[in-house]
Amino acid sequence: DMTLAELDPEIRAVLDDELARQRGTLEMIASENFVPRAVLEAQGSVLTNKYAEGYPGRRYYGGCEFVDVAEQLAIDRAKAVFGADFVNVQPHSGAQANAAALMAMAAPGDTILGLSLAHGGHLTHGMRINFSGKLYHATAYEVDRATQRIEPDRVREVALREHPKVIIAGWSAYPRHLDFQAFRDIADEVGAALWVDMAHFAGLVAAGLHPSPLPHADIVTTTVHKTLGGPRSGMILSSRGEQWGKRVNSAVFPGQQGGPLMHVIAAKAIAMKIAQTPEFRDRQVRTLEGAQRLAERLGSPDARAAGIRLVTGGTDVHLVLVDLVESPLDGKQAEDLLHEVGITVNRNAVPFDPRPPAVTSGLRIGTPALATRGFDAEDFTEVADIIATALIQGAAGAGAVDVEGLRARVRALTDAHPLYAGLDR
Ligand code: PLP
Repeated sequence: DMTLAELDPEIRAVLDDELARQRGTLEMIASENFVPRAVLEAQGSVLTNKYAEGYPGRRYYGGCEFVDVAEQLAIDRAKAVFGADFVNVQPHSGAQANAAALMAMAAPGDTILGLSLAHGGHLTHGMRINFSGKLYHATAYEVDRATQRIEPDRVREVALREHPKVIIAGWSAYPRHLDFQAFRDIADEVGAALWVDMAHFAGLVAAGLHPSPLPHADIVTTTVHKTLGGPRSGMILSSRGEQWGKRVNSAVFPGQQGGPLMHVIAAKAIAMKIAQTPEFRDRQVRTLEGAQRLAERLGSPDARAAGIRLVTGGTDVHLVLVDLVESPLDGKQAEDLLHEVGITVNRNAVPFDPRPPAVTSGLRIGTPALATRGFDAEDFTEVADIIATALIQGAAGAGAVDVEGLRARVRALTDAHPLYAGLDR
């Protein structure tokens, strides 16, 4: 049996290059994280060979006695972490969890109501050319123009007008807590089911640092790989399993998927074990502290003078949304500039963005991956100053940026926090 390097040196080189990139840069894409070695081990294991259509104890394939143990552990641990009485751990991704959730709650053609993509919603919440916008009659609420926040009164207004079958609360780019009780009340008033997509903030919920949607929602979906820090994948949870469990299970399999990825499910079980530890909570605390440091520095007077604002003026969660509407730098230029100094972020539209979607007037900057890498509040103060300095200098013109100096400060941080020491994949 050949090693990867012998069999396929081109792909071996991709692994090497990507590991070096992750080690040598500051990863601040808000939806990313670094999985622990145990997760890499499970995902790169023989469990990938196994077909296991069905659910533990009720499979359509033989030889599932061991993978059943893994899936049951993942389910039981996720229930404990989130206080759910029903969990499905089979969705391959967040998008597939969402497809199954909608399938369980609505029929094709039914009206759904979610946060507009342009205001921070996700593709699967009703974007026009996503399955959610093609299969369902998708309607949207927006953030308030003045507060830039999701105001329950405005959601209610749209819900009363559109009579949705499903109301979606959840976001990919929004820096504040949601009022889940208000969403519940609106759903009850219009006779809708309430689906919360907690993909982004699930890790904070698990640590008790963010309100939990579980008591309020009919169905909760999540990814496992963002703040939760587990393998790239999805899960569906409910505190009303009696009502929704069967429908969700059949929507996942056979509704949306065939064989579950048992190596990923084993890795989810590991992630759910870790989520119950004090170390996990400490990491989520540092994640939030980091976002606060970013908000403080990017909200300071010299940043403001360079045209930098923060959407909603700050953050409650693991990310900030930088508003560059008044900066000469657009989102694309700001993203490229930070990339040059070794910081990876993504440009992102801000609400009512005057610039086109390919350019945008915003940056989404998140702290989960660096918190996992061990960054503390002091490190994040330095990170925030590097970012603010780059954006302020960038606003003064391309020649005004001290790229070498900023790159050296980034290198000092990456050197101080080695990533995956001794690992080669
Ligand atoms: N839901 C939300 C709120 C997200 O931000 C994302 C990730 O981009 C997803 C779902 C989709 O997850 P995935 O990329 O695993 O399909």
